[in-house]
Amino acid sequence: RSKNAGRDTYRFFTAEMNERAIEKLDQENALRLALDRHEFVLYYQPKMELSGRGRITGVEALIRWNRPGYGFVAPLEFISVLEQTGLINRVGAWVIHSACKQIAEWRRSGVGEIPVSVNVSGRQFSQGNLNRDVIRATQENNVEPELLEFELQTERALRENSIGSDMLELELTESSLMAHAKRTIDTLRRLKAIGIRISIDDFGTGYSSLAYLKRFPVDVLKIDRSFIADVTTNPADAAIATAIIGMAHSLNVKVVAEGVETLEQLDFLRVRGCDEIQGYYLAQPLPAIEISKLFLRDNKLLQPVTTSIL
Ligand code: C2E
Ligand code: MG
Ligand code: MG
Ligand code: MG
Repeated sequence: RSKNAGRDTYRFFTAEMNERAIEKLDQENALRLALDRHEFVLYYQPKMELSGRGRITGVEALIRWNRPGYGFVAPLEFISVLEQTGLINRVGAWVIHSACKQIAEWRRSGVGEIPVSVNVSGRQFSQGNLNRDVIRATQENNVEPELLEFELQTERALRENSIGSDMLELELTESSLMAHAKRTIDTLRRLKAIGIRISIDDFGTGYSSLAYLKRFPVDVLKIDRSFIADVTTNPADAAIATAIIGMAHSLNVKVVAEGVETLEQLDFLRVRGCDEIQGYYLAQPLPAIEISKLFLRDNKLLQPVTTSIL
């Protein structure tokens, strides 16, 4: 009888937990181990100048999770979990360190001086106040609180790899800037003061006011790809893209269009003075070795490349 009761209790709980919840727990547990098991990989997507010869100006680091039994998992499926659990601080630090190591490696092996942009989650910025999540992450992951300090992490990554700060750019979304506006501005000012470039990612999708934009020490605006997809056929998207380019230039800010997939989109953006493009038309995110080949092969004159895992 008591054995049966036990089994019933067990079944009661499994019935209560739906499959999604179990999956989410599994994923969370797997993510806690992923860093130590070296399951994260950085891919790199080139950016190209629209003036002159179409020089590659740099690459953006994009994380992938090579999860055993699942294959490569896209960041949109796990970044928010990293944020919710506080794991983003450790993983974010790993991303910055890996990107800096890669810059050093490309330089050492003669591939070239390739600037890298790194995506930064808003949560990585809010750790200045050691909130409960950060304290928990500190204890669970056995990291000194100091290591969680974003600025120190970044400076250390540069120093340990002898990388100039002009080789690193940080991409933040509008919403993460807005969420912690006051503290974020201070942090950005200090990062900019040491020479790191700041870029606003997915621009146009959040609700940053133009007044805020004026106060942020921003170097680059990246037009979100949702405005680029139909830019040659939808008059509203065309107007938005054109307005962003004009506004950015009048504020002395560079403009990058993301998600460019066709020559027609590229031409539209070139005519309107957009500075750089990024997107499948040029290249998908690629492993570091493919970036090396690209630079060594055609002296930075790029043919569209299409090999990706995502
Ligand atoms: P994002 O920073 O806006 O990156 C651009 C995303 O668009 C990438 O997706 C890229 O693969 C994809 N993409 C690039 N060109 C095209 C195109 O022509 N067409 C289409 N349809 N898509 C294109 P991915 O790699 O899946 O990354 C998604 C998002 O995850 C990123 O958006 C970024 O917000 C976040 N993310 C990626 N890596 C990191 C990281 O290391 N740390 C943090 N905090 N977030 C990251
Ligand atoms: Mg980005
Ligand atoms: Mg983007
Ligand atoms: Mg985007």
